Amino acid sequence: MPGRTMSPRRDLMATHQHPGQHPSNEVSINPLYARSGETTVPRYRLPERGLLPDTAYQIVHDEIALDGNARLNLATFVGTWMEPEAQRLYAETADKNMIDKDEYPQTASIEDRCIRIMADLWHAPNPHQALGVSTTGSSEACMLGGLALKRRWQKKQREQGKSTEHPNIVFSSAVQVVWEKFAAYFEVEPRYVDVTPERPHLTPDGVLEVVDENTIAVVPVMGVTYTGIYEPVADICAALDRYQEQTGIDIPVHVDAASGGFVAPFLQPDLPWDFRLPRVQSINTSGHKYGLVYPGLGWAIWRDRHAVPEELVFQVSYLGGSMPTFGLNFSRPGAQVLLQYYNFLRLGRDGYYQVQKACQEVAHFLSREIQKMGPFELLSDGSDIPVFAWKKTHDSNWTLHDLSHLLRERGWQVPAYPLPQRMEDTTIMRVVVRNSFSMDLAHLLLDDIKRAVDQLDKDGALFSSRRPHAKTFHH
Ligand SMILES: *Cc1c(COP(=O)(O)O)cnc(C)c1O
Repeated sequence: MPGRTMSPRRDLMATHQHPGQHPSNEVSINPLYARSGETTVPRYRLPERGLLPDTAYQIVHDEIALDGNARLNLATFVGTWMEPEAQRLYAETADKNMIDKDEYPQTASIEDRCIRIMADLWHAPNPHQALGVSTTGSSEACMLGGLALKRRWQKKQREQGKSTEHPNIVFSSAVQVVWEKFAAYFEVEPRYVDVTPERPHLTPDGVLEVVDENTIAVVPVMGVTYTGIYEPVADICAALDRYQEQTGIDIPVHVDAASGGFVAPFLQPDLPWDFRLPRVQSINTSGHKYGLVYPGLGWAIWRDRHAVPEELVFQVSYLGGSMPTFGLNFSRPGAQVLLQYYNFLRLGRDGYYQVQKACQEVAHFLSREIQKMGPFELLSDGSDIPVFAWKKTHDSNWTLHDLSHLLRERGWQVPAYPLPQRMEDTTIMRVVVRNSFSMDLAHLLLDDIKRAVDQLDKDGALFSSRRPHAKTFHH
């Protein structure tokens, strides 16, 4: 999902009717399935009597057929395709509850294996000393990462006899909305470093301007939601090293690698952004993004046990003993964790490389061709994560919202949305290239963009006056 200002989904939701406004209070039943005589069921009340299973199935199945086509959804980062063997495993393991470590010790053991594998992939000094948890997504993982950092800071302040009020956390104004939520939910002041056209990401100088002794952490992003670019984690760490030399203040770094955590180790293996940098204390990623698992999976990994204050860790029983857990949820599906392990076995390093490389090639090809069309200028070209974004170069009587709308008519979901504060006058369009997006589809998309641009040049705007529903959810 795009960043803090506006997501295409929210735009969609804002233009939709409220569910309560549906003109009919009944859902109709296809006569072929209406075997017990009912022709409708109530839409907003629990039916008195149940339906037959195939009737119930048909109603739900038919209704969700109206959702967008996942393969043409270029707006989402989240995995929408897994191979049949993975689907079989998913169906077989839908009943696993991740919290029942005692009842499902092998699922728990596989979760632990995944954590070691990721700690190793991200160069933890000793992967067996790393602490990690699976979560419902990066959002939960970010909350846990931020919470551990807040508690750590409070402990340090107390030990030094200093105030534990007014903690702050630093990230760029292009940060994903979850960090804004973290700040609001856990009462930490968010300090935004504004992105600019020249520096569309967090910079060491920008960080140094806002940090102080109340800064619990700096959070660079590997794969900024708007553009897909990597923020310069190593440079930011180096700046914080200098800051510590001058002031004695030691500020940890948490890397939000929701997308990049499963891209950088394969496409940019020599880029140090992870636990190779001693200042990096924790990292989150979304198993359901470039980890290539269906929705519902994130991971948080800490470089070692000391990075998580003990009072946050709870023990659950496991094989007669106990095992540490740290999470916001209690019960949670275990199947996605097993699917992550399936992918690790199925793909290996080479497989992940091949998949991400293929996505990057499509992103490079598409971004080059879109640049050549003329009225567009790239903000990124898919060289970091396979995501690229562009804006319009000159004034004409149509906007990227018009283009988005025309593409939508062909089934493509390509969002147009404004950049964050201080740059909100710039509207951009973004494409996320994911595993199922083939070169064939890329050619079809290009043809449709060309056709739409020709039509807009000829006929002008569809609805230029329409501004997006920016910031509807946040403020
Ligand atoms: C997607 C994303 C998140 C939120 O992750 P979910 O897995 O959707 O909960 C956080 N940060 C960044 C940079 C993201 O791209």
